Amino acid sequence: MQKVTLFPQACKGMEDCGICAFVCPKSLFVASEEMNEAGYLPPLPPDEEKCTACGNCMIYCPDFAIAVEGGATDGREE
Ligand code: SF4
Ligand code: SF4
Repeated sequence: MQKVTLFPQACKGMEDCGICAFVCPKSLFVASEEMNEAGYLPPLPPDEEKCTACGNCMIYCPDFAIAVEGGATDGREE
């Protein structure tokens, strides 16, 4: 069972970054409407039912704001 954990305080925002949305093969990242303490809009937690646990978001997030447990880690879309 895959699990995606977000650390929203570490995120520099979907507008300024958004790499997670770009690399997710399932397009599961959309911006929250709530700012973090730094004033950025982090993503909402992705739908874990649709997540394949490919690990792309964790690998490419430059701020280590996402952790993925379980599933494949090779980035291939199923
Ligand atoms: S692990 Fe893959 S499918 Fe799941 S949210 Fe991250 S990029 Fe999307
Ligand atoms: S890739 Fe990381 S820092 Fe960039 S928007 Fe996504 S969670 Fe935030």
